[in-house]
Amino acid sequence: MAREEQELDAEKLMSSIGLVERTMKETMKNKKLRNELVAVIREAGAEKGCEKACGDLLYEVAVKYPKEAALDNRPAFLRAYVMTAKVKNKLQLDAALTYLAKRGPQPLEPEALNEAAGVGVVVTPEEVATAVGAEVAANEEKLRTERYRFNPGAVLAELKKRLKWADGAAVKKELDVQVAALLGPKTEADLAKPEKKKKEPRAPKPVAAVLEAGPAANGAPDTEDAAEQDPYAFLPKPAENNKVHTTVTFSDGRVMSIANTGEQLAAHLAATGGRVVTRFPPEPNGYLHIGHAKAMFVDFGMAEQYGGDCYLRYDDTNPEAEKMEFIEHIRDIVAWLGWKPAKVTYSSDYFAQLHELAVQLIRSGHAYVDHQTPDDMKASREAREPSPWRDRPVEESLRLFSDMRRGLMDEGSATLRMKQDVRNENFNMFDLVAYRMKYAPHPHAGPGWCIYPSYDFTHCVVDSLENISHSLCTLEFESRRASYYWLLEVLGLYKAVVWEYARLSITHNLLSKRRLARLVSDGHVHGWDDPRLLTLAGLRRRGVAPEALRAFCREGGISRNAAEAHLHKLEHHIRAVADVTAPRAMAVLRPLRLVLTNLAADHREEVAAKVFPGRSEDTYAAPLTRVVYIEQDDFREEDSRGYFGLAPGKSVMLKYAGTTRCTGCRKEGGRVVEVQAEYARLQEGVKAPKGVLHWVAEPEPDAAPPALEARLYSTLFRSQSPAELGDEWLADLNPESLTTVAGAMAGPALAGAKPGDCFQLERLGYFCVDPDSAPGRLVLNRTCMLKDSFATERKAPAKGRCWSVS
Ligand code: ATP
Ligand code: MG
Repeated sequence: MAREEQELDAEKLMSSIGLVERTMKETMKNKKLRNELVAVIREAGAEKGCEKACGDLLYEVAVKYPKEAALDNRPAFLRAYVMTAKVKNKLQLDAALTYLAKRGPQPLEPEALNEAAGVGVVVTPEEVATAVGAEVAANEEKLRTERYRFNPGAVLAELKKRLKWADGAAVKKELDVQVAALLGPKTEADLAKPEKKKKEPRAPKPVAAVLEAGPAANGAPDTEDAAEQDPYAFLPKPAENNKVHTTVTFSDGRVMSIANTGEQLAAHLAATGGRVVTRFPPEPNGYLHIGHAKAMFVDFGMAEQYGGDCYLRYDDTNPEAEKMEFIEHIRDIVAWLGWKPAKVTYSSDYFAQLHELAVQLIRSGHAYVDHQTPDDMKASREAREPSPWRDRPVEESLRLFSDMRRGLMDEGSATLRMKQDVRNENFNMFDLVAYRMKYAPHPHAGPGWCIYPSYDFTHCVVDSLENISHSLCTLEFESRRASYYWLLEVLGLYKAVVWEYARLSITHNLLSKRRLARLVSDGHVHGWDDPRLLTLAGLRRRGVAPEALRAFCREGGISRNAAEAHLHKLEHHIRAVADVTAPRAMAVLRPLRLVLTNLAADHREEVAAKVFPGRSEDTYAAPLTRVVYIEQDDFREEDSRGYFGLAPGKSVMLKYAGTTRCTGCRKEGGRVVEVQAEYARLQEGVKAPKGVLHWVAEPEPDAAPPALEARLYSTLFRSQSPAELGDEWLADLNPESLTTVAGAMAGPALAGAKPGDCFQLERLGYFCVDPDSAPGRLVLNRTCMLKDSFATERKAPAKGRCWSVS
């Protein structure tokens, strides 16, 4: 049939089963769905038309249950159940088709199918009325108090359980009728808009109380949301791992429905005791980034949630890219994040077993030694043509593989390939490479190998050997599911539940080891732990607490919907933790001398400054002297509305110390170098000035305070989504991502600060002591500002955006 004819035919068929116009149009645009629907209509024998209700079910089948989902019995089912209205609604349809998918190719067994899909079950209006009546009675008190504001969700859910096969709309209608009978018609009060409760500003909780609940809980809403409490609840339990994982349809029409056999599952459960076992499998070819924190939250988090085990598994099959430095870093940073691997394993620990399995694979006719070059391979993949060596005798492949293993062949002259399906719709079933030769010693396994297994060969097998219950990975691996399960199936090994989730990406950043490595090697940043990078080492150096990262990941959840998280969300969690963990201190970044003229030259008193204002009564002593230093920005020669700093004739507060009124200033070369002011203690009953400044005292004459350098950061990339720029991404680097301020002055709370210590410098932001600090030199990184620096951007886009730049 010509294309146009085909389309016309499809349109006719769709209209004969009563599809509404919009659905029809959408379906015509989607070629795959259109073809599937045409096939479904033909299989059902509905070419001459059918009731609309029946047509809607056919459409549902095409969308959710395509032929490749192992539905060998689809035609028989459609004719005998859908067309005869034995299966009446989507609920039954879903139940029936899930059952069929599980059953695979065996012929229909009507009784079991009827049972599974509630065929023939009639729920009478009387049964509905009785069940609804019971629920209304059980909730009577609540209903009478809340009246029409009562939320029926829980009641409907309960009814759904009781009346599994009833029509949901009819149940809801009956509930409405019975509620109306109980409460009578709506009164004026029922119809009035509920008064909005004014939110009382919440007093901050004491630090100790917040820390007990875990600092990450600071500011987080109390939640009863089940999904938030157990984000992994939707995954099957280890003992339920007997369902069909995937169905591989081969180009010759063969179908492989892959599930664990009873023995495989039983052996697995005996080995694990039915516990959840997961793994976090980084490749040691770079430093980890915040995306890996998400992966760890998924892997370690799931094990933690269920009291199971999570292994840290180095996925180290590519010796050229891997280094001891990275291996050590990963172990260190996993611990820093607070995760405790039940065991540390290496894929390379299994090289011997993997090698034996490869030999078994060749013996069973599922692998062959190939000599195609990468270019040849690419060309034959594109042409969907097999390699000329694909059908060589098993004995020959065994011999050549042994030569490869013993280093008797040249690197690049041979690979071992899995014999999968070169014409499969899925490219990742096209005879993937299982082993390649590399004359390179291995950083963990040592010099004993010159053949190395590929990711596709290794990952699934090691999951199986380690008895992993849930193998969780990111969505780009979804198309490798077929190959993952195919290999385990032909090797007769146990299979984990595989679930893919969306990769984390964050605005104004790129998360890819390859690009991060480029930024480091080309010197755009100062190493893997540069605080501008979202590497975990960078975040740690910047002063971000591990609890904040875990809370951020938890909030993002493990859904499959890819979305770029905005940097302000990360900042929010960083601030929430720092708020209760970072003691307050005062420092001045760009000092300006302020002389309190009415104090004596040798005046030196200690004022009490708060460590966690509002949350605790703890104080530290801040000396007040005749000369103090304030920020240059906090003085102007001319006052103006909305400016709260110091100006001639104006009064401001010196935080914790008292008030000060400006009497004049001295300039040198046009620059203000000194301000004069009169100091007064704050009197009770006298209104305090609005402006409050941070300040530091003059150091004691014989004490040389350390030179203070502050590093202020802005976003590393200028645009919100640099990943969208393709090859131009480097040009988007923000030349102002780092501002170094030398000559800052610190107050006494910073004396003795060590690398890693975090502070809130009043009004300036959260800071962390950098390891570049040395005796006599204090270097501070600004972690983030005190307020959301993106708020204005989100309200009025494109006006100025910065991550922590003053
Ligand atoms: P990259 O693409 O950044 O180089 P990768 O996927 O090669 O990362 P691996 O070391 O192989 O890095 O990753 C270990 C685990 O972390 C894998 O399960 C991977 O899916 C997961 N992972 C990597 N990046 C992210 C991300 N951005 N979000 C969530 N998980 C991630
Ligand atoms: Mg990888």
